[in-house]
Order: sequence, then structure tokens, then C-alpha cells
Amino acid sequence: MTALSTSDDRNLLYDLVGVGIGPFNLSLAALADGVSGFRSLFLDAKPAFSWHPGLLMEGTTLQVPFLADLVTMADPTSPWSYLNYLRSHERMFKFFFSERFHIPRREYDHYCRWVAERLPSCRFDAQVTSLEWDENADAFAVVHRSASGAETRVLARQVVLGVGTNPVVPEPLRPLLTDAHAGRVLHSADYRTHRARLAATDDVTVIGSGQSGAEVALDLLRHQDGNGQGGPYVRWLARTTAFAPMEYSKIGLEHFTPDYIRYFRELPEVTRERLVREQWQLYKGVSEETLGEIYDELYERTIGGGEPRATLQPGAEIVAAQADGEGYLLTCRTQQQDSLFEVRTSAVVSATGYTASRPVFLESMGDLVDWDDRGRYQIDGEYRVALDPRVSGTLYVQNAEMHTHGVGAPDLTLGAWRAATILNAAAGRSVLPVAPRQAFTTFGAPQSPTSAEPATAVPDVAAATPSGTPR
Ligand SMILES: Cc1cc2nc3c(=O)[nH]c(=O)nc-3n(C[C@H](O)[C@H](O)[C@H](O)COP(=O)(O)OP(=O)(O)OC[C@H]3O[C@@H](n4cnc5c(N)ncnc54)[C@H](O)[C@@H]3O)c2cc1C
Repeated sequence: MTALSTSDDRNLLYDLVGVGIGPFNLSLAALADGVSGFRSLFLDAKPAFSWHPGLLMEGTTLQVPFLADLVTMADPTSPWSYLNYLRSHERMFKFFFSERFHIPRREYDHYCRWVAERLPSCRFDAQVTSLEWDENADAFAVVHRSASGAETRVLARQVVLGVGTNPVVPEPLRPLLTDAHAGRVLHSADYRTHRARLAATDDVTVIGSGQSGAEVALDLLRHQDGNGQGGPYVRWLARTTAFAPMEYSKIGLEHFTPDYIRYFRELPEVTRERLVREQWQLYKGVSEETLGEIYDELYERTIGGGEPRATLQPGAEIVAAQADGEGYLLTCRTQQQDSLFEVRTSAVVSATGYTASRPVFLESMGDLVDWDDRGRYQIDGEYRVALDPRVSGTLYVQNAEMHTHGVGAPDLTLGAWRAATILNAAAGRSVLPVAPRQAFTTFGAPQSPTSAEPATAVPDVAAATPSGTPR
């Protein structure tokens, strides 16, 4: 497949246009590369690929094995695998001897960029501003704009949304997210931009018991010197009752399988809602390793009778926040005791997660999306969004289906499997096999052998020869 110039686009009907090039749509772009007769284009607003740059700290690792790269779980023969990336960079022996299953997050970012830069279907500096159903063309019209203001309209029979999620900040902190407080009250997604300034501040409060909160707290602790002097006082507060480890047992991880997705999808909505809340440790906890590293930092400080310049406090929720001289006054409530206390701090990093939201460009679809009664997508087993019958094209979505498909939605483990599922549906044939049964665990009442779904047939690999040759 060759790169298309902008002027060609006006007359070309794509089989699939992807909006957003995060890991999930990039996985789809990589798996679709070279599929004969399948024309795809992927658009991203950023000037180049980058993966959560605000949290790419030295020493942080991916929380899934490297095999959950963009392609391997669906197609280990793809040239876009992490191992082929290593080979291209002549680092196979180094990787082999390092015996790492969890690779540095900075390396995952570099690997994804390596793929994105080589795939002809990926186009950056292309912010999608509108998506419409064009009845005359019998296709979606996708309008994207470059930073210079140039607009391009492309047509596609099918569109896949992979626009990720947006940072969430607790309500009491929102009025402080203004230019006047920039770099002193921020979401952890912007941590690295302000890291040096925060490290030089006398007192920083980190909010949130997830992996990001733990990593920011640890990073700030490491800016104190070996005796705990210098650097900021570090206060780590969280609403959850404990700083709990992420579920990482082998059997527990089977919640991230196609089997669990199929089981979850069939459950009543009220049960699905409850499960997602109850299963927070599957997707919101902290890796045991990071918790251990924080503990070890604090332990070091107590050698010779020292006291760590740090507070770790779970079970405390921020109920009010205001500017207070050069710093901030936070009012917190301990949930179990229901008592209030105040904290004076110089800066607040809110590591309070992300949420999926409805993209603005979808407004141009008018009433053609069939939202559920809570304004969310209704999504089928092949990630199709329910649309008005007037639309004969198909809209897919990635990483916005936790309410319908369960906790695996944001997890990289299932990314390539989901992308292959979408690719097969979009191509109208089995390009890649996606076995529906992978777990030892039986989720729900056992199915009789006659009702079991057969695995999709193994395709003719010759029909899907990748065109790109990674360097
Ligand atoms: C710091 C961090 C670490 C994580 N680590 C792990 C991990 O180790 N393991 C794991 O399983 N999960 C992890 N996750 C969760 C998840 O895998 C990631 O959030 C992942 O990046 C989600 O990919 P995505 O493709 O959905 O979205 P994103 O990576 O957010 O990408 C979305 C893209 O869409 C683009 N976009 C949005 N709107 C438009 C538009 N209108 N036009 C054009 N482009 C647009 C954006 O520019 C962006 O590039 C992590 C999450 C975070 C925040």
C-alpha cells in the first residue's frame, strides 16, 4: 500500500477510517497493513505518535507482558511485533539477556512510534472535526484539519473510533485548573511537564490510589536525597480504603480473555454496572512492585532514627480546596470515621484517572447514533455501535465499552485480539483467527457442547501478506 496524497483522498472511498492513533487503533492499522484489497486510513490530531508522555518516567514499565504488543496476540507472524522492532534495532541479544517480561514504558512508546512512522495508513496532524453520514455517497464523510488550518474530507464505508479517554479531576479541584495555578494544580497526565518545578517545591500532595498516583509519589520521594532531606514533603492521599495491589494472579488475569467478555456481555445491565465497580482491583490497583519500591524508599529514611518526610493516607476524600497564600488548603474527610481534617500544601497532583466521553465531532452525526438511556454507545460483540437504520455503513469503537464488555476494555492484553475482531468484521472475511475460548476458568453456567461457538477458521495467511518492510 502506498501513501496517498491529500488531493487523492477526495475521490477515494476507504473501507475503513480510524479516528485516533493510540495503541488500539495503531494495532488495527498494523494488522490491516497489507491485507489485500482493504483500504484503510488512520488519523490523529498529534504531530506524531506519543503514548501518555506526561507519565513516561525512567524506570516505569508496562504492566502487561511485552507479548501484548500491537500485533502478537492476534498475529505473531506480523512484521510489526515488538520482537521485530528489537531485531530492527539490533537489540535482540540485549533483550534476551535482560530477561524482561515487562518492558520499560518509554520503550513501548518508542516501539509504537516505530510502527506508526512506517505504516503508510497512519496520518498525523489530522484532527477529526466532523463525522457525518453522506447519504448521496452512501459513506461516512470524515473531515480532518491540520495545525495550519487545511481541511480534508475523506469518505469511508466504515469508521472506527479509538480516541482514548480524558483525564478526570475531583470536583473540588476543578476551579483551580486555571492558568493562575498552572504547574501547581494539575492532573498526573501532565506530571512530566511540571516535574522539575514540583520536585523543587517544599510540599506536594498526590491524590489517587492507582498506578499513576503511586508512580508520581515514588518519583517525588526519589527527589528527596538519601536521608529524606531536600526535595518535597510528599503526601499521598486516596479515597479508597487501602493502597491496594492490582490483581495479578494467573487465574485472576483470565478476566482479560474473550471468554470473560462473552460472559459479561450477556449479563443484565445492573449486574454489569455492579461488577465493574466491584472489580476495581483488576484495573485500578497499584503493581506490587511499585508499592514495594515506595515502602523501601520510606524504610531507607528511618535508618539511624530518621523520619520519612512523607504521609501515606488512604480512606480520605477531598471535599473542598482553595488557594491559600502561595499554596492550597484542602479539606478532607476520612470516610470510615466521617471526620474532617485540613491539609496545607504547595501543589496538588491529581492522579484520579480517566473516563471515556462522547467526542465533539460526533455531534455532526445528529440523532443517527442509537445511544443507551445513559447516553452511552450500545456495542455488539464485534464492537459495532448501534446506529439508525438509515446508516448502511458501520461505526466501531475501541476502549469505550467497559459498560458492555467489562474491565478488559482499556487493557493492552486484549488490544490485538479486539483489533483482529474488528478487522475481520470490517473486511467481511476471516483475515485473522480470533479463537473465542482462551481461559481455563468457566464463567457462568457451562454451555452444552452443541451450543458452543466454533472457533473462527484459520485464514489463508498468503492472502494477508504485509506490504511494509520494517527497517
Ligand atoms: C500512564 C498510563 C499507563 C498505562 N499503562 C498501561 C499498561 O501498562 N497496560 C495496560 O494494559 N494498560 C495501560 N494503560 C491503559 C491503556 O492501555 C492506555 O490508556 C492506552 O493508551 C489506551 O489506548 P487508546 O488507543 O484507547 O487511546 P490513547 O492512547 O489515549 O490514544 C487516543 C488518540 O486519539 C487521538 N484523538 C482524540 N481525538 C481525536 C480527534 N478528534 N481527531 C484525531 N485524533 C484524535 C489522540 O490524539 C490520541 O493520540 C495505561 C494508561 C495510562 C494513562
